[in-house]
Amino acid sequence: MFRSLFLAAAGSRQLERLVESAPVAGMVRRFVAGRSADEALRVSRELADDGLAVSLDHLGEDTHTMEQAVATRDEYVAVLRRLHDAGLTPAAEVSVKLSALGQRIDEKAAYEHAHAICAAAAEAGTTVTLDAEDHTTTDATLETLLELRREFPSTGAVLQAYLRRTEGDCRELATAGSRVRLCKGAYAEPESVAFQSALDVDKSFVRCLNILMSGEGYPMVATHDPRLIAIAEDRARWFDRACGEFEFQLLYGVRPEEQARLAAGGNTVRIYLPYGEQWYGYLMRRLAERPANVAFLARAISSKK
Ligand SMILES: Cc1cc2nc3c(=O)[nH]c(=O)nc-3n(C[C@H](O)[C@H](O)[C@H](O)COP(=O)(O)OP(=O)(O)OC[C@H]3O[C@@H](n4cnc5c(N)ncnc54)[C@H](O)[C@@H]3O)c2cc1C
Repeated sequence: MFRSLFLAAAGSRQLERLVESAPVAGMVRRFVAGRSADEALRVSRELADDGLAVSLDHLGEDTHTMEQAVATRDEYVAVLRRLHDAGLTPAAEVSVKLSALGQRIDEKAAYEHAHAICAAAAEAGTTVTLDAEDHTTTDATLETLLELRREFPSTGAVLQAYLRRTEGDCRELATAGSRVRLCKGAYAEPESVAFQSALDVDKSFVRCLNILMSGEGYPMVATHDPRLIAIAEDRARWFDRACGEFEFQLLYGVRPEEQARLAAGGNTVRIYLPYGEQWYGYLMRRLAERPANVAFLARAISSKK
């Protein structure tokens, strides 16, 4: 109920204006690198200095016109060049939402945009991961992934453990050279397609982890959940995966002490680092994940002069 409230708030322009006008810059900065590529590069450098890899996400999922989609493509191409010139690749890659590239307007054009970003990434010596969005886009996104992988085999997939179909998708994708990020899933999904209880989602996560860790691909374990992280560490030992043969991924600003602990243990740890003007929907999804974040936000808003 609490989670759905915040996921609904992600679409509220009124609340966005309130949050924007409130002195919550600290709250936003905790989860978002900044509005510009300059800020994203600065934070990427700081994380690299701490031994952390990054996946940069340009926040822009509210794409309603082809002009916006083209601007998003151009932003990614430009930031990839800058990451390369700053010596931040290959440790820095990018995460891309096909919706931001116009998937809902014209699927073919969205594919072309994703292709241009993959080509820029290859030129910059790094790669791209296609974020997973709500379940109505899963088939189209996985089809696009397979198409892109013909030319850019390291393009990463994201699978959401809350979807009932995901175990099957893990089996399909646990092949040599296949990079797969496994996460719980961040959207409000109906019972017909998704597990509803936290326990069922966790159990699905472990089943998927077993498939990916025992398979031939490169698992990217994207969770902050201490129990699932411990299980992933255990499965890596069980299936004889050395530190470079899988990675942990965590969101910027979430459990930074755990990020440091995992990196100090020799693991590859990649931080998902969002930046851009459209920070609001992203922030609401992070709030939906944890009640304590909401108390923090409420305090910031009520302290508005
Ligand atoms: C690198 C990365 C990429 C992702 N990509 C996608 C994607 O493409 N598509 C998609 O649907 N979802 C994506 N997600 C989001 C994911 O699906 C979950 O919604 C999110 O990670 C919370 O789930 P959790 O596994 O951390 O477990 P939870 O059970 O939500 O959290 C476990 C613990 O982690 C801490 N924690 C979790 N979230 C927060 C927070 N926001 N603030 C403070 N502490 C927190 C708390 O201590 C909590 O008890 C991604 C997540 C990560 C880490």
